[in-house]
Parts: sequence; structure tokens; C-alpha cells
Amino acid sequence: MTYKRKKYHRGDTHLKKGWRTKRRKKDLDEIDEDLKEENTKKLLNQEADFDKPGAAQHYCVHCARYFINDTALHTHFNTKVHKRRIKALELEPYTIEESERASGKGSYIAPQKRKIETVTREKLDKMDSNTEPSVKVMKINE
Ligand SMILES: [Zn+2]
Repeated sequence: MTYKRKKYHRGDTHLKKGWRTKRRKKDLDEIDEDLKEENTKKLLNQEADFDKPGAAQHYCVHCARYFINDTALHTHFNTKVHKRRIKALELEPYTIEESERASGKGSYIAPQKRKIETVTREKLDKMDSNTEPSVKVMKINE
């Protein structure tokens, strides 16, 4: 008798990855919500959580990933995954309003491209110090 069981799904791992939930990360529209300034601030200044890699102190907002230290985070900023993610975030996320516009409600405006930059904690700190010129530099006694 011939071996009848054909392995129809042998090379499907790349497909299955799409439905798997084990390593499921945030979707792009959720990340878009995180990119609002107040949310970004919260995410980048999280309390130490020792269940997360690096106690949740090194977070990439765009990829929704934690890193073990600053070096790992900064190497990640230069990787293909991160750059690809930045590109993907450039296009505005799908909205109900857009679909309504497309179906003839009002005039259709195509989703806009925007400039996305990597947000780091240092950059946020800089932005804060720019808006608050009241930061005084203490002079050490000469
Ligand atoms: Zn990233």
C-alpha cells in the first residue's frame, strides 16, 4: 500500500505565523495611538517592571518591544525591522471616516503620509527642556 498521507501544509510556517498569538505584538493602529505625545511619554518613562525585559526601561514605541539595555535599543534603531516599521507607520492608519469618504460621503481625501522619527527617551527629555526654559544650571563654587 502506498503512503497516502500527503503533507499538504508542510511549508506553511510562514502562513501560520500570521495567526499565531504567542508572540503577538500590538497592531499598527494601536501603535499609532501610542505615538501621541502623552502616550509616548508614559511608555518611555515606565515604572520598573521586572517581568519585562530590562525592567521595562528600554522600550521602542514603534515596534512595541522592550530591550534589555540602551545599547540593545540603539542597535535596534538601526536594524531593518525598525526601519521597516517606521516606513509602515508613515501612512496614516485606516479609519472609519476614510472608508465613509471612499464610499461617497463627502469628498475623498486619501490617507496622508507623515514623517515619523524614532522617539527615544533622550529626545523627549530634550523636547521638555526646550519648552521649559526655567531649568537653571547650578554653578559650582570656584
Ligand atoms: Zn523599533
